Amino acid sequence: MFINARELNNGQHIESDVCIIGAGAANITIAREYIGTSANVVLLESGGLEFDKKTQSLYDVKNIGLPSFGLNVNRLRYFGGTTRMTDNPKTGVVDENCKLNYVSNLYIAGSSLFPTIGYANPTLTIVTLALRLADHTRSLVKG
Ligand SMILES: Cc1cc2nc3c(=O)[nH]c(=O)nc-3n(C[C@H](O)[C@H](O)[C@H](O)COP(=O)(O)OP(=O)(O)OC[C@H]3O[C@@H](n4cnc5c(N)ncnc54)[C@H](O)[C@@H]3O)c2cc1C
Repeated sequence: MFINARELNNGQHIESDVCIIGAGAANITIAREYIGTSANVVLLESGGLEFDKKTQSLYDVKNIGLPSFGLNVNRLRYFGGTTRMTDNPKTGVVDENCKLNYVSNLYIAGSSLFPTIGYANPTLTIVTLALRLADHTRSLVKG
């Protein structure tokens, strides 16, 4: 079922067993792993049901630092390493189960888990890690 959250009444809220924020490659993979279980899953994506410039402008980026080609011509647009996985909370943000250090029920998927980002296509590894994360979180919720 699709719900346009902009049409919810003031104070109305949606309850779920699992809330997945962002419907990209990683999180659609995770959501699909709940098909056939009894868990209520919300997959929350930004924007409305139609393209709108204001939401799209949230994804505007610019190159900073050393001179480089513009992002409209640059082939390499892989981002990662911002919530790196580590077994030591001092050197990273999530543990080996993709769980945020110091927060009990918040998990992260995507290339931000990588220690650094390389030049090679990252999405297969992202999806593999997402499948592993889904296995783990499914074992924690009913269904
Ligand atoms: C031009 C281009 C070409 C690429 N080509 C390749 C390729 O050939 N091979 C390859 O392996 N990879 C490629 N990539 C990289 C690939 O797209 C990413 O690795 C992959 O999409 C990452 O998946 P993700 O789920 O981590 O993030 P994303 O796919 O970026 O998904 C994140 C989702 O979260 C949503 N979101 C963000 N903030 C919020 C919020 N606050 N609330 C709700 N939702 C939110 C976004 O709208 C988005 O749908 C390419 C990327 C680009 C830009």
